[in-house]
Amino acid sequence: MTPNGPAVADSAPPLIEVRDLKMYFPITNGLFSTVQGYVKAVDGVSFDIPRGQVLGLVGESGCGKTTVGRLIMRLYRPTGGQILVHMGENDEEAVDIARLGRDQLLSYRRQMQMIFQDPYSSLNPRKTILDIVSEPLRIHKLASGNALRERVEELLELVGLRAEYVLRYPHAFSGGQRQRIGVARALALNPQFIVADEPVSALDVSVQAQVLNLMRSLQHRLGLTYLFISHDLSVVKHISDRIAVMYVGNLVETAAAREIFQRPLHPYSEALLTSVPKPDPRAKRQHKILEGEVADPAHPPTGCRFHPRCPYVQPRCVEEEPALRAFPGGRTVACHFAEELTLSGAL
Ligand code: SF4
Repeated sequence: MTPNGPAVADSAPPLIEVRDLKMYFPITNGLFSTVQGYVKAVDGVSFDIPRGQVLGLVGESGCGKTTVGRLIMRLYRPTGGQILVHMGENDEEAVDIARLGRDQLLSYRRQMQMIFQDPYSSLNPRKTILDIVSEPLRIHKLASGNALRERVEELLELVGLRAEYVLRYPHAFSGGQRQRIGVARALALNPQFIVADEPVSALDVSVQAQVLNLMRSLQHRLGLTYLFISHDLSVVKHISDRIAVMYVGNLVETAAAREIFQRPLHPYSEALLTSVPKPDPRAKRQHKILEGEVADPAHPPTGCRFHPRCPYVQPRCVEEEPALRAFPGGRTVACHFAEELTLSGAL
């Protein structure tokens, strides 16, 4: 079982395969924009997202998780690596969208949509809900006139809003309702895959649960696959089948959601879990809260990038970068001492 629903077979074929993905942003200086160095926002990230599953991608602000989402949507052209998608007529064949030109990307863009963080700024205040939600349909010339309006009304009802809201403007809606409108817009083209980038972090806690429940029920109902990006493990817990933890451009741990919550294997995952409320409020935390700042991706620390903040650091960690290694149960962990540490979970 996933934390919140029926298990999806682990053998489900991947919809998305990310291989050694890299995004280096140049740091330029002077009149001639001489390149002084690179911000390695994403530095060799690999993972799969099986069809019909939710991968939660977590880490603190600045760890590179949003850049990964934008790379998969091809809002950036990656510096290196592959983004293989199985969405063509023959699912067996993968297309590397990291290499596609603009025209070739168009047909994939219909299948891949994004939900943004801020429901206040992501909706144009001068446009009606009809204009906003129908925009993808108009761009792809898929509907017009009455059919367009009917489709928008259908989408509003799908996300729990009334069809008669169609001619209202964004200011007439609460934050939660606006994010529902953002979800309706993302669903307009019947996509297979959605990147949701911090979709509830701008909302009140009471509203967050409603939007998460909506996204989870739509995912089951429509057979969607999500990459769900958040800095907050307690948010990701409620929706993810698997979780990937990211730190300064690298993945440090991947596992089934329940396993990470029960027994993290990487000290950074353990530190993030200290911010998740425990079911028993009397239970004491055994380890201290995460201290210090995320390292600068332009000048990452030597060896293990987490070593300046790690309570378990040893001399080897300063010298040698740990590889992401396979562990039983389909887990991967990048820590020299993962077998020896006994870390605390949050279940
Ligand atoms: Fe901590 Fe060392 Fe493991 Fe890095 S390799 S997480 S510094 S124990």
